[in-house]
Amino acid sequence: MPRPSRYAPDNLPRPKHWTDDAACAGQVTAVFFPVGKGGVPASVDAVYAKTFCAGCPVRSECLTHALNFREDYGVWGGLDEDERADLLRTGRLAAERQRRQERAQEKADAAPAA
Ligand code: SF4
Repeated sequence: MPRPSRYAPDNLPRPKHWTDDAACAGQVTAVFFPVGKGGVPASVDAVYAKTFCAGCPVRSECLTHALNFREDYGVWGGLDEDERADLLRTGRLAAERQRRQERAQEKADAAPAA
């Protein structure tokens, strides 16, 4: 049986989605896309958008979505695009550092005992 569409009319059953509990539900979308690399309106302030995120029950789901889908613009999960880019960069560096340590350990384990 096909899964019901998330975009089905409200009178049809649909699976619950994390966005259903978003604190920003019903807000003007532009609030979450303040000035940034996308060059959207200067009148919008990321700090204001982040006030919604601060108490949002699905903040981690929102941030995970933004990181997984590489949302380049706007406030997601309480972080703006620069903060998310820093988080991704930090994660990549940590993963690279771990890979190097594992390779070094494998070499050390494979080396004949002196
Ligand atoms: S974390 Fe912020 S942007 Fe994400 S759903 Fe919650 S209020 Fe909306």
